[in-house]
Amino acid sequence: MKKHNFSAGPCILPEEVLQKASEAVVNFNNDDLSLIEISHRSKPFVDVMENARALVLELLGLENKGYSVLFLQGGASSQFLMTAYNLLNKKAAYLNTGTWSTKAIKEAKLFGDLVEVASSKDKNFTYIPKGYEIPNDADYFHCTSNNTIFGTQMKDFPETNVPLVCDMSSDIFSRQMDFSKFDLIYAGAQKNMGPAGTTVVVIKEDILGKVDRTIPSMLNYQTHLGKDSMFNTPPVFPVYVSMLTLEWLKNLGGIEFIEKVNEKKATLLYNEIDRNPLFQGVVEVEDRSIMNATFTLTDEALKDTFDAMRKEARINGLNGHRSVGGYRASMYNALPLYSVQALVDVMQELERKA
Ligand code: PMP
Repeated sequence: MKKHNFSAGPCILPEEVLQKASEAVVNFNNDDLSLIEISHRSKPFVDVMENARALVLELLGLENKGYSVLFLQGGASSQFLMTAYNLLNKKAAYLNTGTWSTKAIKEAKLFGDLVEVASSKDKNFTYIPKGYEIPNDADYFHCTSNNTIFGTQMKDFPETNVPLVCDMSSDIFSRQMDFSKFDLIYAGAQKNMGPAGTTVVVIKEDILGKVDRTIPSMLNYQTHLGKDSMFNTPPVFPVYVSMLTLEWLKNLGGIEFIEKVNEKKATLLYNEIDRNPLFQGVVEVEDRSIMNATFTLTDEALKDTFDAMRKEARINGLNGHRSVGGYRASMYNALPLYSVQALVDVMQELERKA
C-alpha cells in the first residue's frame, strides 16, 4: 500500500494518472512506441499538447477570453525573470510574502525600478500584508497566491487597474477564483498538475509587446505563443502527465469539486492543530493555506516520539522547509482525506501517550 504522501513538491499525484503515465512510457496509445520516443511534431503528441492547453483554459474558466497557455521549461524560477523581461518597462510593484516572492523581486530588479508595496518579512512571513497601495503607473503588480514554505495563502487579491501577475505554483487548480482578474499566471507543474519539468503560463496576450528592450527568443513569450508552445522540443513527459492530471480533475468535477475536498482536509487538520495542546500553528489563522499547513510541537522533547510514530504510520514528507523547521503538511489535490485522517490519528495518539 502506498504511503501517505504530504511532500511539498514534487508531491503526490493521482494513482490512476501514475498508472496511465507508466503505460504510456512503454506503449503509447497502443501504437507500439513509447510516448518519450516519438517525435514531438507527430500528431499523437501535438494532440496531447493541444488537449493540455485547452484543459487549462477550461478548468480555469478562461476560454474565449483572450488567454493563451504555454508549457515551458526552467521551472517557476525562470518565470521570475521572464515575467520581468517581457513586461517591465520602467517600474513594477511586488508584494513580498516569502522566499519565492523575494526571489521574484531579486530577478525583476535586473530590469527596472521595483516598488515593494508591502512585506511580511518583519514576522518571518507568517501573515499576508493587507491594505497596501499599488502605484497606478506600475507596469504590473506581482504576487504569490500561496506561500509553499511558510503556509500562508492570499484569500483576496487587490482591485487595481494595473495588470496582475501571479505565481500560483502551489495552489493553482485547488480553489475557485475569478482567474480573469489576472493577466499572467504561472505555476510549476510539480504540485497540483504533474511531475517537475514543465511550468504552465497563462497569458492574456494583449499585455505583451509593450517593452522597449530586445528579448532573446527563448525568453520571449511571443516566440512560444507564435509556435503553439512548440518553439523548441517541449518536455513531452511532464506535459503528458499534466494532461492526464487535468483530465482526472475535470472528470471529478473540476475546481468546484476539488475545492470542497481541499477545504475538508484543511479543516480536519487545522481543527486538530488548534484542539491538541501538543501542537500549534505557525501562521496567522486568517491567512492559513489550505494547501500547506505549518505547525510545531509545543514540547520539543516529544519530537523523537512523534517522528517515530508518524514513520510507523507510513506518513511521508512532513518535515518543515529547512528555513522554517517544525512540520509542514502539504495537502495537494491528489492527497486523499484518509491520509489527513491518518496524520490526525497519530497526533491524537501522541496526546494519549504524552
Ligand atoms: N514559486 C512557488 C510558490 C514555489 O512553491 C516554488 C517551488 N516550490 C517556486 C516558485 C519555484 O519553482 P521551481 O522549483 O519550479 O523553479
